[in-house]
Amino acid sequence: MHTTDPDCIFCKIVRGEIPGRKVYEDADMLAFHDIQPIAPVHFLLIPKEHVPTLSETQADHEAVLGKMMVLAPRLAREQGADDGFRLIVNTGRVGRQEVLHVHMHVLGGKEPLGSMLPRPKT
Ligand code: 5GP
Ligand code: ZN
Repeated sequence: MHTTDPDCIFCKIVRGEIPGRKVYEDADMLAFHDIQPIAPVHFLLIPKEHVPTLSETQADHEAVLGKMMVLAPRLAREQGADDGFRLIVNTGRVGRQEVLHVHMHVLGGKEPLGSMLPRPKT
């Protein structure tokens, strides 16, 4: 059984206490559509284990983190992003992470996405 946090919104989705529109599930991963999508394809891929941020991952998370990277293209394709996609892992304060449970945004659609970040004016 993986570590869980009673108050974490993504742990609640893992436990089925609040609904999530599921994209994929296995013993240690869950993917579900973002509640406020910013692209035609926008889902979140999370480890079921509660780890607050990528900064807190350890060597024993290598397998699950690797699995996220391998699953992302497959699930993106299945969701209709078949000509590329973008992965984002907002981390900590500077990364403007809002939900403190490691998650990978998978973003895509039929047309190219906006720029990654606006370039600062020089
Ligand atoms: P962050 O800024 O932490 O990288 O992104 C958190 C994401 O989680 C946001 O895009 C937000 O829309 C999404 N989110 C927050 N609460 C919920 C929820 O209860 N259900 C789902 N499906 N997504 C959520
Ligand atoms: Zn959690």
